[in-house]
Amino acid sequence: MEAFISEHGVENISALIITVTCNSSGGQPISMENIKGASEIAHRHGLSVWIDAARYAENAYFIKTREKGYEDKSVLEIAQEMFSYADGMMMSAKKDGIVNMGGLIAIKDDEDFYNICRSTVVPMEGFPTYGGLAGRDMQALAVGLEEGLDYSYLDYRISQVKYLGDRLREAGVPIQYPTGGHAVFVDCKKLCPQIPYYEFPAQAVCNAVYIESGVRPVEIGSFLLGRDDETGEPLESPLELMRLTIPRRVYTNDHMDYVADAVIKVAEYAKTLKGFEFDYEPKVLRHFTAKLKPVK
Ligand SMILES: *Cc1c(COP(=O)(O)O)cnc(C)c1O
Repeated sequence: MEAFISEHGVENISALIITVTCNSSGGQPISMENIKGASEIAHRHGLSVWIDAARYAENAYFIKTREKGYEDKSVLEIAQEMFSYADGMMMSAKKDGIVNMGGLIAIKDDEDFYNICRSTVVPMEGFPTYGGLAGRDMQALAVGLEEGLDYSYLDYRISQVKYLGDRLREAGVPIQYPTGGHAVFVDCKKLCPQIPYYEFPAQAVCNAVYIESGVRPVEIGSFLLGRDDETGEPLESPLELMRLTIPRRVYTNDHMDYVADAVIKVAEYAKTLKGFEFDYEPKVLRHFTAKLKPVK
């Protein structure tokens, strides 16, 4: 953090945003010590600190189960301490709020920024009292925020992620280990060394798993990363991952066995898979709407 600030200059950084857990690096948690330390450095340089809280409850669960000194604290107490180091938070509630739709922004003291957000909400989402959400969705969210912090619920969920990860590991499929929250990440650089980064090895594995089983994983690699803004050259991601994301309260471990069997089968012939090239490439956030075709 200190090195990042001195490299980029504090005047070029608008705020520190901490994503808990981090969805671009394996759903791995951030320790309380690191949240606190990063927040102290940011505040020392006059930067405000924000938490992207989509998966805050899973992060709090990991702090409880892994970080010294937190084993006897409740998940709620841990979440409250996490937020105590931030000036505000934003949250897509579809993850740890366990709802179909909705989200929220919370700001502690910055009234000017609050007013900017409030007036932006009107044209973008809806009146500030409901922000585009139906009343029943806000009621569901109020319940979900409480249920999402329940230890036994979190323990079941994180164990299900671990169950899928363990099955893949036992079969020799390379995954990010230990597994984090919400997903298992398969290392496709190892599965498909024959496919160069600009032909998207992890996307090739995702497609094969879909054809094999109907399961829809997502690529987290060079396809997601995109191109260099100035040169237009394809960027090389250090990791080429297939993310197997698990919805909350939807699947049993029998479903996980089905997913594992499909991935294990694809892993057996992964070295014969071919890469992909663009049929259509949008300018912005390409991995949501691009069309790909196999390279000849
Ligand atoms: C899902 C997610 C978002 C985006 O939420 P949407 O409701 O899908 O727009 C933002 N940040 C993190 C960390 C997420 O996991």
